[in-house]
Amino acid sequence: MTDTVVASDESNQAKEIDLEKEYDVIIVGAGAAGVGVAIALTHVGIENYLIVDRDSVGSSFAEWPEETRFITPSFPSNSIGMLDLNSIAIGVSPAYTMRVEHPTGNDFAEHLRSLSQFFELPVLENTNITGINKIDNIFNVETEDISLSCKNVIWAAGEYKYPSTGNFEGSEHCAHTSTVDRYGNLEGEDFIVIGGYESGIDAAYHLARNNRKVKVFDIDCPWGEHSSDPSIALSTYSFERMRDDNFGKNVELFAETGIRSVRQSNKTYEVVTLDDKVYTSSTKPLLATGFDGSHKSYPSLFDSREDGFPLVNDNDESTVMPGVYLCGPSLRHDNHIFCFIFKYRQRFAVVAKAIAESLGLETDDFVEAYRSWGMYLDDLSCCGQECLTC
Ligand SMILES: Cc1cc2nc3c(=O)[nH]c(=O)nc-3n(C[C@H](O)[C@H](O)[C@H](O)COP(=O)(O)OP(=O)(O)OC[C@H]3O[C@@H](n4cnc5c(N)ncnc54)[C@H](O)[C@@H]3O)c2cc1C
Repeated sequence: MTDTVVASDESNQAKEIDLEKEYDVIIVGAGAAGVGVAIALTHVGIENYLIVDRDSVGSSFAEWPEETRFITPSFPSNSIGMLDLNSIAIGVSPAYTMRVEHPTGNDFAEHLRSLSQFFELPVLENTNITGINKIDNIFNVETEDISLSCKNVIWAAGEYKYPSTGNFEGSEHCAHTSTVDRYGNLEGEDFIVIGGYESGIDAAYHLARNNRKVKVFDIDCPWGEHSSDPSIALSTYSFERMRDDNFGKNVELFAETGIRSVRQSNKTYEVVTLDDKVYTSSTKPLLATGFDGSHKSYPSLFDSREDGFPLVNDNDESTVMPGVYLCGPSLRHDNHIFCFIFKYRQRFAVVAKAIAESLGLETDDFVEAYRSWGMYLDDLSCCGQECLTC
């Protein structure tokens, strides 16, 4: 076993990573959450940490279908003290650096890579975490060929690499939208999309722009929801795109239509609804059924809430494995859903503070600075759907 590796980034700055030392923190995942919380750790004064990713910095974003864009807009509003909605760190604005309002996945992956270089984050790439055990208050973070040690773990492995393939018979005949490289390259004239939230509407929009006929099925009616919470209702961006002429001409929406099964016979796919209607297409149905999330593949890390999301305490720490913290879109507190960057970034500093205090560091100035940027949310009582202040 080697005790150090040299990780090189795109600027070819070589960083030596010591595999044998005991880290204060290991962050699993170098996506928006992993990079964002790493910067918060740096700001609170924690230096002895390592980020580990099975792939590379921002790789989930880089794998989005080429046409897919952020639904949340970026705007260079930092100058008046309002952090860009897609920013993961104080003082950073993707709108300012990228000059784009709705970044593509590739744009954002590039943004995360440049932040990682700017902050000189210690990232060990191409290293899959297979398990985490705790012995005498020290975690052994197992990879496929070595074991890393640390005092705390931040789980930021996200959801995108863990798609949900739907709970119906024949879902193996379908393709998840996360496997699509580019909608414009999909062959065929007619498409069925199962799931009508953001990803389903996004798929329908891009297919319709390429003059394909699309049927979208959803067990609910996402386009009819009247919530002001974008975690529940479709985003403004999606409603705007649904008014596009091509969408109106080419897309049929089927609300409250659950899918019972999908069958394939010869080159035809038959989609059977819960009320036993059959719809056919000549192309593989597309699954826009969301993501199971990484926590489901590592069930020992967190206890489950009734809705299946990880159970955490007020510091976003596991209730069954203290010292393991959760950052990212799977975070839930009561009925608050932190699935967007502008929501879950507000908890990076809560985690950083808890770990810093356990290491004996002073955190008052850090908390004050993060709070003043809306990046420290510890009072959830004000966060109802219609709340204008959080
Ligand atoms: C199509 C689409 C559009 C979206 N649009 C928006 C939007 O407009 N605005 C918004 O705020 N959010 C949006 N989101 C949500 C946003 O993408 C997620 O919030 C974000 O990707 C979550 O970041 P993350 O760091 O938690 O996960 P990821 O970006 O997925 O990063 C997790 C990282 O962990 C690594 N990893 C996973 N398992 C392991 C393991 N076992 N060992 C080591 N490494 C591991 C992965 O390789 C990955 O790099 C969108 C999501 C999708 C799918």
